[in-house]
Amino acid sequence: MDLENIEGIGPKTKELLKKLNIINTGDLLKFYPYRYDIIKRSDLQNIADGDKIIVDGIIEGQPTVIYINKSLKKIIFRINTKHTILNVTLYNRIHMYQELKCGKEITIIGKYDKLKNSIVASEVRFGLLPPSTKIEPIYYTTLGLSSKQISKFITSALYTSYTFNSLIPSYLEDKYHLLPVKDAIFNVHIPTDILSLKKARQRIKYEELFMYMLKIDYLKLKLEKTSNAIERKINYKEVEKFIEELPFKLTMDQEIAIKTILSDLETKKRMNRLLQGDVGSGKTVVAFVAIYANYLSGYQSALMAPTEILAFQHYKEAKKLFNKYKLDIVLLTSTTTSKEKKEIYEKLSNGKIDLIIGTQALIQQNVLYKKLGLVITDEQHRFGVNQRNILKSKGISPDVLSMSATPIPRTYALTIYGDTDISSIKTKPIGRKEVITYFKKEKEILSVLEMMKSQLDLGHQIYVVAPMIEDEKNSEVENVVSLKEKMTKAFGKICNIAIVHGKLENNEKGKIMEEFEKGKINILISTTVIEVGVNVPNASMIVIFNANMFGLSTLHQLRGRVGRSDIQSYCILIAKESEERLRMLEKTNDGFEISEYDFQNRGEGDLFGIRQSGALGLNMANVQKDFKMLQKAKEDAEEFINILFTFENNPEYIPIIDELKKIDSLD
Ligand code: ADP
Ligand code: MG
Repeated sequence: MDLENIEGIGPKTKELLKKLNIINTGDLLKFYPYRYDIIKRSDLQNIADGDKIIVDGIIEGQPTVIYINKSLKKIIFRINTKHTILNVTLYNRIHMYQELKCGKEITIIGKYDKLKNSIVASEVRFGLLPPSTKIEPIYYTTLGLSSKQISKFITSALYTSYTFNSLIPSYLEDKYHLLPVKDAIFNVHIPTDILSLKKARQRIKYEELFMYMLKIDYLKLKLEKTSNAIERKINYKEVEKFIEELPFKLTMDQEIAIKTILSDLETKKRMNRLLQGDVGSGKTVVAFVAIYANYLSGYQSALMAPTEILAFQHYKEAKKLFNKYKLDIVLLTSTTTSKEKKEIYEKLSNGKIDLIIGTQALIQQNVLYKKLGLVITDEQHRFGVNQRNILKSKGISPDVLSMSATPIPRTYALTIYGDTDISSIKTKPIGRKEVITYFKKEKEILSVLEMMKSQLDLGHQIYVVAPMIEDEKNSEVENVVSLKEKMTKAFGKICNIAIVHGKLENNEKGKIMEEFEKGKINILISTTVIEVGVNVPNASMIVIFNANMFGLSTLHQLRGRVGRSDIQSYCILIAKESEERLRMLEKTNDGFEISEYDFQNRGEGDLFGIRQSGALGLNMANVQKDFKMLQKAKEDAEEFINILFTFENNPEYIPIIDELKKIDSLD
């Protein structure tokens, strides 16, 4: 239903609501308050300055009108509560003046100002029988629109003839004693008491989670039924030869991952696999073996990286690894000239390119493949949802392998990744020494410099990371530019120092990274652009300033830049104050353990950026906080999907089926 049918919404407001992703009445009603103000009736005994309260009393004396300016007037008067005399200020409601008669009983809702012993009223009611508590919904807003206005629009929308469809089958509503959908939506926007608000939220959350899990099951079924993915013959003999020629022996987990992937590639079902493993665990080589097998079967592969630096690194690694083999490998980046690009596109569509490596450039609309069989995304969570979809749609039905160094806790992964298979690499290549991590306070910087010095003396290289590129308004946060000055002061005489960050030209970035790899640069100062994938085995130390500003998984990934050879490596986390979170990194190097800790301790964090809640129809539920409910919803959905397909014509299920038909893919 069009928003303009709602009282108070015209074209202008409609535009504002659009900014909040509210396009129609359905969206508006699903725009839930992010919190509530609970205003208690107060006898003014123990209230603090700034509290919102409800208070009643008798008007004393005559109210006064004060003209502040043309558009701002206020009425002030006093009320006698049982305990005290209170001043009341009422802005811009001159029309009430006549009603504010001395001796009249009145109830005020407003904010208490202790110093002035006054209350600024937001609501006035006559009579002494106020609600004992008022629950006020607070909505996210945008400039030009207040939470109160949104509340008003929603209230009018609720009283239009909107049809509320339940997406929960009635047997499950009964099982959990859930509020009917209409009551729930009413109560969540216009709560009358805390208990019914709780019940309303429970209903809405469960519906969201149930629907989410049902979508996963539905997709899985659909995938199994309609799978027309490539069935290849795998040339195991040649693949094994390739593995034997590798400069190292694969770890057990790498071998298992490869075996699983190869058998995925053989079957008709489209592969949708997540390969997760700590930084440095050797995911790339697993990907290359898959690429090689795909090539031997006559198909093209595309390898997508989140940054140009990483794409370039993969390209070099691929060139090296496939040196002896006949694969045609190209790198496509934003710096590729348009002439080169044209050539590449032609070769891709002719099937002359076997492996293409790049960033998002790989998936622009004009890139056509002859026989795209395998798509690999590195650090998959950094790609947008649509990007992955476009790429997938380019081949007939390419197999997809996503690599991620942000491990997902097992319990969580099993639930949320219902439509994805997972391979994990937990063992690290042998000979690796664990990175030793120290936390240091900012004032201990001298000892940090000493540690750096001893690494430089050994001929090792160092990464230095800061949250910002340049100083912003004398902020207390370290930045790349000023760190370069400081480091030059300390080490300028004995070594080369360079900076790299997102604002540099790609050429420039590539050049600096190359020099760092060759050992010509000893200290590389950067923002988090080096976070993923960069591989310089001679780097033995990473120093991270303002470590408290980063998520644990980011810090863990940054730490993975070092410890990539048999030399002992160090990670130094610097912050003003010690934090338990940061101390946790001193104790463990296990990415799975760290992600579990994050899972238990964080609200919403970068950990689960992989699947943004909004896009999943989770407006209120939170997969992390409502995990128990999610598990129930998962079981219920699994049971229900079969019921749904047996009783497809049950009118009760029509809205559910409609909702399911809207989706093609969850990622
Ligand atoms: P990540 O999982 O972070 O992507 P990489 O694939 O970049 O890790 O591997 C890190 C380094 O370890 C690379 O230099 C790679 O060549 C090397 N490597 C991978 N597997 C092994 C192994 N089984 N034994 C020794 N070194 C390995
Ligand atoms: Mg990697």
